[in-house]
Amino acid sequence: MSTEQTFIAIKPDGVQRGLVGPIISRFENRGYKLVALKLVTPGQEHLEKHYEDLKEKPFFPGLIQYMSSGPIAAMVWEGRDAVKTGRVLLGATNPLASAPGTIRGDFAIDVGRNVCHGSDSVENAKKEIALWFKPEELNSYKSAVFDWVYEKA
Ligand code: GDP
Ligand code: MG
Repeated sequence: MSTEQTFIAIKPDGVQRGLVGPIISRFENRGYKLVALKLVTPGQEHLEKHYEDLKEKPFFPGLIQYMSSGPIAAMVWEGRDAVKTGRVLLGATNPLASAPGTIRGDFAIDVGRNVCHGSDSVENAKKEIALWFKPEELNSYKSAVFDWVYEKA
């Protein structure tokens, strides 16, 4: 268990469907701390870099088109085991395989419209945060509820 930062992005379908509030609430309600937040419409090159590990996949062109179809709500959330738990909050990549109670399990059906991204490892979280945010966009502060969320620091 360690304090980690994870990159969470509400994809264009999530923004268009009015799911920014509900998705942010999942992370807030769990006790995670919001470190950075912005609405952005990145270019093709940025998105290709973000998904560079998938560039050989047949769905890659469609994925880049989907991700560039509107604004994305980009965020960094911090807290104990934030990367792994962020993925649990998200659910499976394919929403049809996601349990109810997860973001994708509650808000999505199609793998190509799965509303939210979350880093899959601490190493990738670091890379993604550096790609999407300037260092000065990351806020450092003590959450007012910290001592109510954690027994020990
Ligand atoms: P994630 O980490 O759970 O988001 O999943 P991946 O890193 O494997 O894939 C990145 C994104 O590509 C997913 O969130 C989907 O939006 C999309 N994707 C993955 N697999 C498929 C697929 O089989 N078909 C389509 N259309 N999109 C996919
Ligand atoms: Mg992934």
